[in-house]
This record gives sequence, C-alpha cells and structure tokens, in this order.
Amino acid sequence: MHLILMGAQGSGKGTQAARLAPRLRLEHLSTGDLFREAIAAKSPLGQRVQPIYDRGDLIPDDLTVALVEERLDRIAADRAEGLAARGALFDGFPRTLAQAEALDALLARRGEAIAAIVEIDVPMDQLVSRLSGRRVCPNCGTTYHVEFNPPKQAGVCDVCGGTPAQRDDDKPGPITRRLENYRTQTAPLLAYYRERGLLTRVDGAQDIELVTQAILDAVGPRLADGATSGTSDGPVRDEA
Ligand SMILES: [Zn+2]
Repeated sequence: MHLILMGAQGSGKGTQAARLAPRLRLEHLSTGDLFREAIAAKSPLGQRVQPIYDRGDLIPDDLTVALVEERLDRIAADRAEGLAARGALFDGFPRTLAQAEALDALLARRGEAIAAIVEIDVPMDQLVSRLSGRRVCPNCGTTYHVEFNPPKQAGVCDVCGGTPAQRDDDKPGPITRRLENYRTQTAPLLAYYRERGLLTRVDGAQDIELVTQAILDAVGPRLADGATSGTSDGPVRDEA
C-alpha cells in the first residue's frame, strides 16, 4: 500500500510528505535521502551511486529503482515484525515515465500496488514567487523566505549570524527553466496515472494545514483499513 506525492519545486511537496507520513502510517521515502543514506552506509549500491552523486549527475533509473526496492524490503521486514509503516510515501519518485513503469513492474512482482497519486497543484506565478524569495544561510544551511519566513533581523541568520543569500538556482531565469523542465517531464507521468484512475489533484495554493487535510480527504478511502487514524473527519471528496 503505497502513495506517491507529486508537485513542482516550491509546491510544498516535501513539507506535506513529512506531515502526512505519520498520519497515514507510511514511511516517507525521498530518493535524495535514499542516495545519501546508501552513500553513508557504503553499501554496494551506495558505492556505485557516490561518484555519480558527487559529480551532480542524475542517478540512472536502474540504480534508483534498486535502492527503492532495498528500502521496500526493509519496510516489509519491519512490518513483519509488527512495526509501524504500512507502506511508502514516495516523494520525488517516480520522476519519469520509465521510472513509473519500473516501479509498477517492481510492485507487481511483490504483489503490492500504488493506492493513489496526489499532485499538489500550485499556479506557476506563485511557484516563481515562492522560490525566488528563498534565502539560504551559506554557513548552516537554514532556509528563509523574504516574505513568508524572514530571519528575525533582516539579512542575519537566526541560527549562526551568517548572511542568508539567494542561490543562483533560485534566480528567476533558472527557476522558470526548472519549472518548465518539471512540467515537460511529468506531463506523460501524470497522463499515465490518470489513465489508470489513480491521479488526484489537490489545490496547493491554500494554507499548509488545508492542503494536508485535502490530501487526507482524497486518499483516505483509497488507503482504507482505518489508516488515517481519525484525523480526517470531514466529508470525503472524490476529486478523481
Ligand atoms: Zn546560519
């Protein structure tokens, strides 16, 4: 029983995944974390990932899928021991149609399935303003937003006194390019899941808690067996 969360950079996908995972009793599985963990553990897969990751290149699909499978094995083993997670909450994976097909094949072999795919939908202009306001402290990595989450004293990091700065990636040109790439890459993926009746779209332009609630309302019935632990009391809306 797995859930996939999709959304452009700036859509709040990571934030929502972190909020949803405990409430749905799913394990938050981001491929970025998987790569870093495998590298830190120096596992055979980690040793293959490291040089590619260090160069900043895209990790090939076969390696990514192998890492995902390793983690699913661990979730299944934990479940057999009666531990919490009922499945994975995928954040940032699959990213391409090829990965989606590989994931389906992998799950079919295991007798598992995707329960739902949720796309957090935020209008392009809002994504640009969220991303371009981001400032990151170069010393400690704390992230701020000039409008929504500024440091207590303008231009001074709350944590270490450093000077939060805009990363080159977060300037308007690169942002637009990144968002266009996302759209181009995920369009076939969204179509693939829509055809299978699995795709639900949630309005990501609203308040964080309202987005969480909308997702819980949308996926609750699909993750049926009492999964939402009483957090979703409102009427169920089927947006598919
Ligand atoms: Zn700092």
